[in-house]
Amino acid sequence: MTLDVNTLFLVTIYVEAMLGLLLLFAWVQNSSVTAVAWWGAAHLLRAGSIALFGLYGAAPHWVSFDLSNAVLFSSFAATWVGARVFDGRGVSIVGLLAGAVLWLIVCRVPAVAQSIEARVVISSFIVTCYTWAAAYEFWRGRSEALVSRWPAILMLFAHGALFLLHTPAAAMLPWIPDKQVYDSVWMVVLSFEALLFTIAIAFILLAMAKERTELLHKMASLVDPLTGLPNRRAFLDDAEAMSQQAGTGRKPVAVLLVDLDRFKSINDTFGHAFGDRVLQIFAETALTQIGPDDLIGRLGGEEFAIVLQGCSAKHAMDTAEAIRLSFENAASDIDGRMVGATCSIGVALSQTGPIVIANLLEEADQALYRAKEGGRNRCEIAGLEFTLRLDASTPSLRIDNMAAKTAA
Ligand code: GH3
Ligand code: MG
Ligand code: MG
Repeated sequence: MTLDVNTLFLVTIYVEAMLGLLLLFAWVQNSSVTAVAWWGAAHLLRAGSIALFGLYGAAPHWVSFDLSNAVLFSSFAATWVGARVFDGRGVSIVGLLAGAVLWLIVCRVPAVAQSIEARVVISSFIVTCYTWAAAYEFWRGRSEALVSRWPAILMLFAHGALFLLHTPAAAMLPWIPDKQVYDSVWMVVLSFEALLFTIAIAFILLAMAKERTELLHKMASLVDPLTGLPNRRAFLDDAEAMSQQAGTGRKPVAVLLVDLDRFKSINDTFGHAFGDRVLQIFAETALTQIGPDDLIGRLGGEEFAIVLQGCSAKHAMDTAEAIRLSFENAASDIDGRMVGATCSIGVALSQTGPIVIANLLEEADQALYRAKEGGRNRCEIAGLEFTLRLDASTPSLRIDNMAAKTAA
């Protein structure tokens, strides 16, 4: 099968330009993902570079070859910068221009200028560096759960590898005289691969941007923006899923319901913004006291809930007490102001049989009510024969009592 290279060039220019405009249009519609603009610019630059290459014979050699390649390298550099920007890294102007500048300099070296093999090796090397650098940037951000990240990494890696293969392959080919450069089979293969790559990568990058936007929206709907904790909905969903898992494994769970004490008066005394800061401090300190498998969420206002997995009554009360105490310490003096914020905690433990989080929350709420009634800044546990009321002065007594009662 023979392909007309001129037609392929025209098609590639057209496709590159269309994809560039498509990406820019997507960016205008959703400017929050700036990387899309870089990727759009990359495709437009590539269209420009191929157009310049197409002027071979009609324009001076430095335009159709040196300049067109410099623009081509800038386009791959823009894809790389886009990958950096996508994952929150900075724009590197030096990196952006390095390939093009290096190329224009080495083209002035007579040995390189006269050797088409040398130029193929250098240009392939530059393209490979940029595409692999872009793949590496995406790889670095792999902790973010984007499915489309992986085809992007694979695609960029494969394209870079193919360009690197040009080098030994090109060196082995008996090079065709300059004027026949368009008739080379190699040129057809390269052009065709470039066309397929550019279409595939544009759609993959677009899919990544779309997936990122959806992920951010999903996160925003599940995370409390003030504390960064799961909100009520996310917490209840996660707790439900956990209770079903725990139910199958017959592991007991404990629910802790926390309410900050006299929070209204903290707001009234120190201001609402300061109250927000207290809520953040609670979230930070509570997180340090629970395990990686436990759940925490802000149910609303100054009310938080925690689910502890595979937990005994003693462990639940120890954890509740540790949270109460660490918050009391962290919030006694904030930014030099004597705030003295505290919290009360109600604890409920699952019994045998299926775990129903709503019921446990209800029980924990009753225990919390008792903690408030009992003077606040304390932990109470529900479901035991008599109330085990604790404050900071009697931690061991409470646990001994509880253990005795549980055993009985
Ligand atoms: P108690 O010890 O009985 O729990 O008293 P309280 O003052 O903490 O309880 P109350 O329910 O009377 O007041 C809760 C306050 O929490 C009222 C509300 O303005 C405040 N609040 C709710 N959400 C926020 C928030 O996001 N930021 C701030 N700063 N305050 C909030
Ligand atoms: Mg409350
Ligand atoms: Mg309160």
